[in-house]
Amino acid sequence: MLRLLASMHVFAVPAPVRTVIGEVICLPDATISEELARRLAALPAVARVIPINTPYHLASRALFPTTTRVRVGQAIFGGGDPIIIAGPCSVEGEEPILEAARAARDAGAQLLRGGAFKPRTSPYSFQGLGLAGVELLARAGAATGLPIVTEVMEPALVPQVAAFADVLQVGSRNMQNYPLLRAVGAAGRPVLLKRGFAATLDEWLLAAEYILAAGNPNVLLCERGVRGFDPQTRNLLDLACVPLLRQLTHLPILVDPSHATGRRDLVAPMGIAAIAAGADGLLVEMHPRPDEALSDGRQTIDPGALRQLIRRGRAVRAALTSEDSSPDAGPAAAKELVGGAHL
Ligand code: PEP
Ligand code: MN
Repeated sequence: MLRLLASMHVFAVPAPVRTVIGEVICLPDATISEELARRLAALPAVARVIPINTPYHLASRALFPTTTRVRVGQAIFGGGDPIIIAGPCSVEGEEPILEAARAARDAGAQLLRGGAFKPRTSPYSFQGLGLAGVELLARAGAATGLPIVTEVMEPALVPQVAAFADVLQVGSRNMQNYPLLRAVGAAGRPVLLKRGFAATLDEWLLAAEYILAAGNPNVLLCERGVRGFDPQTRNLLDLACVPLLRQLTHLPILVDPSHATGRRDLVAPMGIAAIAAGADGLLVEMHPRPDEALSDGRQTIDPGALRQLIRRGRAVRAALTSEDSSPDAGPAAAKELVGGAHL
């Protein structure tokens, strides 16, 4: 097929995707005339030609109408239940991260977070414990049975961090670090890709496309607020992106109400609102004693507040799920229609 396409001067890219029918090939959209699409569709080796009207292909719901499920340990992102990732902003030491891990588990979180490589705005702020911190996080995760999520900032460090982390986080400031996206795409671990704080949804989904095109199908999108104009909040939480992304992509969608607001008092209301909007999970900063946290204490909730947030979030999801359990109602039916409309 690739040779045939090249003879037609169409330089296609084989996608690292194998479906039950066969393989997916991505064609550069500008070159595909209706006439060419018809000719291709008539070839015996071609099951279907799917026109995709977006710059991203592998991330699009038009190509994959079913929501992707990403399994990490016992947790399934995109499986219907909101999955909660909680833990301190930074790994602070062996005892502190173990205490935080136990608190996260006891509050009902399914994954443990903690930064060891910290992308701090100021070079004088606490920069994290580096690889030693990743190892401490992994030990705390193993001791509590929680898979771990941690940020990696440099392509060269991806293999070492991936040796310990269950999920690799790419932070907001690195969303368009293309060498890093390629490296995590090749790391064989699920990737939590945060939205750049000034990124459009197309830019974000194209960043996800880099990871998918590198052969890693397990990408979690995480909205963490975009740059706003009002200093009352650290960022502006773009909750509308949750139902909108649901139409555009099959990838699971998470929300981080901690970095999105920068305020402890707003984390629970916005976390619950995110679940009501259809988020597949939350990333929440939690510390046993938030005021003593080495970073982001002002947006960090305590274990009691986390427990209450999880309880309320699950109640909201359950109420909405029972509401739209009739076959032709609710978000599931709507997204199938949107996916189908592109076909
Ligand atoms: C974080 O989750 O610790 C973090 C630094 O987030 P962001 O990249 O969204 O600022
Ligand atoms: Mn933080």
